[in-house]
Amino acid sequence: MKSTGAAILAAKCPRCHQGSIFPVSLMSFRKLTQVNDHCPNCNATLEPEPDFYYGAMYISYALSVALVVNIMLILNYGFGDPEIWVYLVTVGVTNVLLLPLMLRYSKVLYLYIAGKLKYDPNA
Ligand SMILES: [Zn+2]
Repeated sequence: MKSTGAAILAAKCPRCHQGSIFPVSLMSFRKLTQVNDHCPNCNATLEPEPDFYYGAMYISYALSVALVVNIMLILNYGFGDPEIWVYLVTVGVTNVLLLPLMLRYSKVLYLYIAGKLKYDPNA
């Protein structure tokens, strides 16, 4: 796990790119967004302070806005501008389906942006 992009996609620790940020898999819906206190591999602090991930809310908001915009563009240009209920249903269903992913990746991105952890190949 060398590149930062791959580490983000796999939700790995920003410092060693090897330890998992989340203790449970995406498919276990309980504790879906629970984060490890420390990286299981290099022991980096993954929750620097209480309520650290509060800011991740903004990222998850930005992600859902981006999602809605993309869906509307795809429906408009790819599916010949269908009726309004098609937009609403598609946006609703996609949001629900992708919510677990967005909740997780908003935290991963936030940790990479605000977590002050530098990649250290020897960690
Ligand atoms: Zn680590």
